[in-house]
Amino acid sequence: MEQFDVAIVGAGPAGSSAAYYLASMGFQVILLERGKSPGSKNVFGGRIYPYSLRELIPTYLEDAPIERMITKEGLTFMTEDASLSASFSSPTPDGTSGFTVFRSRFDQWLAQKAVEKGAFLLNEVKVDDVLFEKDRIAGIVAGGDEIRTHLVIAADGATSKIAEKAGLRGSFDPKNFSIGIKEVIELPKGSINDRFQVESSEGVSIVYVGYVTKFLRGGGFLYTNQDSVSLGIVVKGIDLVERKINVESMMGSFKQHEAIRKLIVDGKLLEYSTHLIPEAGFKMMPRLFTDGLILVGDAAGFIINNGYTFRGVDLAIASGIAAAETFTQLQKDRNTNRSSLSAYLANLDKRNVISDLKKFKNGPSFLNNPRLYSEYPKILIDLLRTMYSIDGRGSKRVREAARETMKRRISITRLVRDLIGGMNAI
Ligand SMILES: Cc1cc2nc3c(=O)[nH]c(=O)nc-3n(C[C@H](O)[C@H](O)[C@H](O)COP(=O)(O)OP(=O)(O)OC[C@H]3O[C@@H](n4cnc5c(N)ncnc54)[C@H](O)[C@@H]3O)c2cc1C
Repeated sequence: MEQFDVAIVGAGPAGSSAAYYLASMGFQVILLERGKSPGSKNVFGGRIYPYSLRELIPTYLEDAPIERMITKEGLTFMTEDASLSASFSSPTPDGTSGFTVFRSRFDQWLAQKAVEKGAFLLNEVKVDDVLFEKDRIAGIVAGGDEIRTHLVIAADGATSKIAEKAGLRGSFDPKNFSIGIKEVIELPKGSINDRFQVESSEGVSIVYVGYVTKFLRGGGFLYTNQDSVSLGIVVKGIDLVERKINVESMMGSFKQHEAIRKLIVDGKLLEYSTHLIPEAGFKMMPRLFTDGLILVGDAAGFIINNGYTFRGVDLAIASGIAAAETFTQLQKDRNTNRSSLSAYLANLDKRNVISDLKKFKNGPSFLNNPRLYSEYPKILIDLLRTMYSIDGRGSKRVREAARETMKRRISITRLVRDLIGGMNAI
């Protein structure tokens, strides 16, 4: 077999970005993907923040398979029979609010870009193990074949087996994972534009809290594509088990809710998928490298979910670039021992990967607070209901209505404590 400088496991955004960067610099790179094609097995909500993609491929807007540029954000609190929405519009996008894509198309596009630069992509190859030689990693093992390289980049996603085999983290703990479920529902472009009040190039992102997860910890999301919407739920796996609720029936009730039904009526289900999501953030981060190997993307735990933004792909791309850059900075002998690879940390930090994760390190424990998904949506909706209902029995001022609603559900001290906790964490 040809000699490769670097083997990359997984052609998701992290792996293909590293492959693109390294191949552009003239290195021999092999990119191994277990799926039929890059992206064929990959699930995500729908939005990418593009700063890191822009760094990697400044001309990405010319041919990336973008569905819509996000110009409208929404947040909707739900109870069983009511909803309260806030919406933020910014119709002149500067690119920072991102765009929607389908991963099957986006991942394939990015991997193809790496191939055009000279990376060697092998689909339908599952990497089984890392190759140890004198206590360092010297390559990978796939289907009985050994491939020796100076460096292995593990980009094999949230449940990375390669990170485990390399001894960088233990087997995964279900407590730290949520379950994601997503449907793609086809609708005519005109209906999407009318229902969401946007132009054809504009897109919408909405986050749902409360009844969407039957008041369990998690939330819902909706993203608009050109001719479809991506609708889904992310919910704590252990809550589902404890409450004996299955995620499919949760999705069914979500779609029947008055706030959703009208948006997707007459739509045709095109796709359905489920996936695990690591949720513990900075505190769950494994060791990021060892002699001969670097972890990137979800394999390294690079996910930030602070309730109002969900970042994974941008961090995957940024970390893929940082890992590749680290290899290009090595001395001529390509010694990939731990001390040389420690430059990876500085390269990550140049792109604010670790500092952003650190900033939101208390986010996951704050978001573990069940009151955020149960009491608070109910309080807000009760309050609005009282304010807008006139039954002739004497109206209430907002302050009285708020005091009464809260008295039924939560103490002031607890509310203040949660508010302060939230301000510090997210
Ligand atoms: C429901 C859901 C919604 C999400 N929404 C968003 C969102 O809207 N925006 C966002 O930015 N992020 C979102 N994320 C997170 C995002 O999907 C991930 O952060 C991102 O995909 C990480 O990229 P990656 O390249 O590290 O890993 P992945 O995208 O998981 O890619 C890993 C690749 O490795 C391959 N692979 C795995 N094991 C092997 C092996 N042994 N051999 C060969 N190949 C292997 C897989 O087939 C896959 O192609 C969401 C995630 C979920 C589950």
